[in-house]
Amino acid sequence: MSDMPATAPITQDVMTLPRKMPEGGKINLVGLTRDQMRDVLIENGTAEKQAKMRVGQIWQWIYQWGKRDFAEMTNLAKAYRAELAEKFEITIPEVVSKQVSNDGTRKYLVRIAGGHEVEVVYIPEEGRGTLCISSQVGCTLTCTFCHTGTQKLVRNLTAAEIVGQVMMARDDLDEWPVPGAPKDETRLLSNIVLMGMGEPLYNFDSVRDAMKIAMDPEGISLSRRRITLSTSGVVPGIVRTAEEIGCLLAISFHATTNETRDVLVPINKRWNIEELLQALADYPRGSNSERITFEYVMLNGINDSDEDAHRLIDYIKRYNIPAKINLIPFNEWPGAPYKRSSNNRIHAFADIIYHAGFASPIRKPRGEDIMAACGQLKSATERERKSRKQIEAEAGIAK
Ligand code: SAH
Ligand code: SF4
Repeated sequence: MSDMPATAPITQDVMTLPRKMPEGGKINLVGLTRDQMRDVLIENGTAEKQAKMRVGQIWQWIYQWGKRDFAEMTNLAKAYRAELAEKFEITIPEVVSKQVSNDGTRKYLVRIAGGHEVEVVYIPEEGRGTLCISSQVGCTLTCTFCHTGTQKLVRNLTAAEIVGQVMMARDDLDEWPVPGAPKDETRLLSNIVLMGMGEPLYNFDSVRDAMKIAMDPEGISLSRRRITLSTSGVVPGIVRTAEEIGCLLAISFHATTNETRDVLVPINKRWNIEELLQALADYPRGSNSERITFEYVMLNGINDSDEDAHRLIDYIKRYNIPAKINLIPFNEWPGAPYKRSSNNRIHAFADIIYHAGFASPIRKPRGEDIMAACGQLKSATERERKSRKQIEAEAGIAK
């Protein structure tokens, strides 16, 4: 990106993945639930008696083996494969560019229908790898410290475009299993976080359908404990997440008074700290390892005092929430109205939390040199954006 330091050791290559142009009127099978796939197969001529079995077969080809071409689905009759190819397609978002950070983080820009673009980030770590995926182009919310929040919502992603980001990354990591080969238990892509662009709970149905597909044991088969959904605090969506997805939860908490949170995370004006904490207290969980992550961005002089740390702990204790507190050093972006807290301040804050008996890891910024760190994502190509005036007005307390 243009605002990257010129010396940053990055590589950038424009990928030449096979392009699937939308072919007139074909139905994309990616992103459909099993029931939806069954319905479209029947509507398009598959015998009702066979539909369930056909869904199972096609599902495995798409999500277990990563196939995109009906001709390769060798346990289906040749004539049936040809029929499928006439009516359906298996299409995922197209990779426009890929950047690799000096720390191994990969940032992909992917293009979705309508020419919009979203970013996807892969973060390799010891023994695991996390894919940070997007749920919307832009975001309707206007958190004042977030780069995505300066970009107007363009649209919600479809379930196909959400699970398609996972399939795209598996393509790039060359991680689809080969039939007959021994099962490799250490996956390069072992975890998913919904922490890219957008508020996932404002695109609930598509996020749910996509994550259900990612968890399906006859396919990508990621455990629900390896998927974390991050929300700014859409309380009704939190209840539905428990009931309909069952993944882990992270909350963009970021402030310890309603006054400050109203500014940093404006959705707080709709559901305030107390309502949010009550929803978290009610969130069912299977074991202690399923603690709720409190994300807390460290903004110099805004939310990083000792009093803030004490108030944060008091709140979590009062509501008896099994929590871990993830401190995120603020990642600056061009024109950002805040500064990152100093390292000393971040560590002092972390110590208070730790001594109160809570885990308080400090998130290591990854992929900063390619603007891939938390909160830095924003498709530079999206023209429509909020005015500088609006951003400054929203960030009133920074002055
Ligand atoms: N919309 C969802 C998920 C996307 S943001 C949410 O708000 O939770 C993922 C995380 O990055 C959130 O905790 C968000 O508050 C944080 N974040 C946003 N901008 C940031 C920045 N500039 N520096 C550090 N973290 C940031
Ligand atoms: Fe949207 Fe999350 Fe950014 Fe807030 S922090 S503007 S909810 S993406």
